[in-house]
Amino acid sequence: MNVIVIGAGMTGIAAGYYLRANNISYTVLEAKSDLGGVWNSHRWHGARCDSDFIKYSFSFRPFLSHRCLQRRAQIQAYLRDVAQEFGILEHIRFNTRVVKAVFDSRRQRWSVHTTNGVFTAQFLINGNGYFADEPYVPAFKDGERFKGEIIHTSQLSEQRTFVGKKVVLVGSGSTAICAAPELAAVSGSLVLLQRSPSYIYEISNQAGPLIRLCQNLYQRGLRTPVRWLRGYLQLRDDLIFLGFRRFPRLARWFFRQHWRPAVGEQALREHFNPRYNPWQQRIAVAIGLKEKLRAGAITMKTAEIERFTDSGIVLSTGESIDCDVCVLATGLNLRFFAFDMYLDNARIAVERINFYKGLLPGGIPNYFHPMGSWHSAWTQRAEPLLRSAMRILCHMRQRGLGVVSVPRQELEARPGITPTYVMRSLATMPRLQGTTNIPTIDNLFSVRVGRASLRFAAVAQ
Ligand SMILES: Cc1cc2nc3c(=O)[nH]c(=O)nc-3n(C[C@H](O)[C@H](O)[C@H](O)COP(=O)(O)OP(=O)(O)OC[C@H]3O[C@@H](n4cnc5c(N)ncnc54)[C@H](O)[C@@H]3O)c2cc1C
Repeated sequence: MNVIVIGAGMTGIAAGYYLRANNISYTVLEAKSDLGGVWNSHRWHGARCDSDFIKYSFSFRPFLSHRCLQRRAQIQAYLRDVAQEFGILEHIRFNTRVVKAVFDSRRQRWSVHTTNGVFTAQFLINGNGYFADEPYVPAFKDGERFKGEIIHTSQLSEQRTFVGKKVVLVGSGSTAICAAPELAAVSGSLVLLQRSPSYIYEISNQAGPLIRLCQNLYQRGLRTPVRWLRGYLQLRDDLIFLGFRRFPRLARWFFRQHWRPAVGEQALREHFNPRYNPWQQRIAVAIGLKEKLRAGAITMKTAEIERFTDSGIVLSTGESIDCDVCVLATGLNLRFFAFDMYLDNARIAVERINFYKGLLPGGIPNYFHPMGSWHSAWTQRAEPLLRSAMRILCHMRQRGLGVVSVPRQELEARPGITPTYVMRSLATMPRLQGTTNIPTIDNLFSVRVGRASLRFAAVAQ
């Protein structure tokens, strides 16, 4: 039994850990020259996670720190440590981009065509992430007239400074909220320009007494408290998610109370009053935004960009903003499959494909594709799903089975959250099946893949 893992991001590295723990041989194929996935490729100012990292890090190697959220470089270094510690690094083939994968149903094997040759394996685990390489850049009227620089965050390096320059940062999601304070620190002036407001929650980023206590105990060899802490943080986040969605007026009131003292009534109405209800979209977590707003280092504006001029931007309100650099934090495009797949000679249509338990796409044999959680930490679902995949593989090894699959089904799209980037690709997005989208509940019940739902075939002679 052998497995090819695609991608050396969080999913691929976790897959390597669980495959080794189950004595299954594997190779990881990674397109880039380094590991880390998004934590390798997103290098803009302030790139960091917004899930508590004690919970987002792997359960088998929780990351201990006095800070709740970690920066990109720390997360990548952590992933490198994990890959080294568990012997995953030597299994990774870097600079090896998968372009096509073909399942030969007679031989019950995948042939994986890459920029570095063809690899074969009985099973695939796909951890190719869900963001396209090309970012989302809206078409701005007269963008080509602008004499300054327009750059998307995904192409921006944190090494760059904009001393003495007027910078406009366009966006209102997590990227803009993470980047704004850090960009302001290296720019002459910074305007945070949002088309419409979103919900933002500011934290101090200092781990509280409970987290510190659990981490102390962990360092003394007592591991259970950190396990409980992770479960508790997940339960807390799930209850907040459900509570905010159930009681939107209360949730709106909560956010008003959170921002009013820092920005005042007028700014609250203009810039912190979203059109949608809390947790219909991911909530951006800010660090240091209030202080920068108070100090005048960041100016906020809420309006659509009507057009660019030689020297700046004209807003739909008629106001003009002069700028030298326009940084677009306008998000990314979703893509769930980075390469084409074939079942013998027939191309597999992946549009609207059902994802049983968020792990097994319908009609694709011997193929696992763990879909982590979107409104919580990715690993909270990706890791339990990988453990489910291992249970299936071990079952097949024990019984001498050659193929596993689930039936293809047509389902309605019911995304857990509905931000613009999800709505843009809703028509083709995979349909999750057999999960509640609430990690606490899923981890107790739903990730247990019922063997009766799977189709097995014996090893071909
Ligand atoms: C800035 C930013 C902040 C985020 N913050 C959080 C957060 O706080 N909490 C959270 O839960 N999630 C967050 N996410 C989402 C994040 O994508 C997931 O948490 C998680 O890291 C996904 O890991 P992955 O390994 O599945 O995918 P990725 O990290 O996208 O890695 C995929 C890997 O596959 C490789 N690959 C792709 N195509 C091919 C191919 N054809 N052949 C070979 N290799 C290929 C890529 O090069 C990459 O290394 C954030 C994302 C971004 C961009």
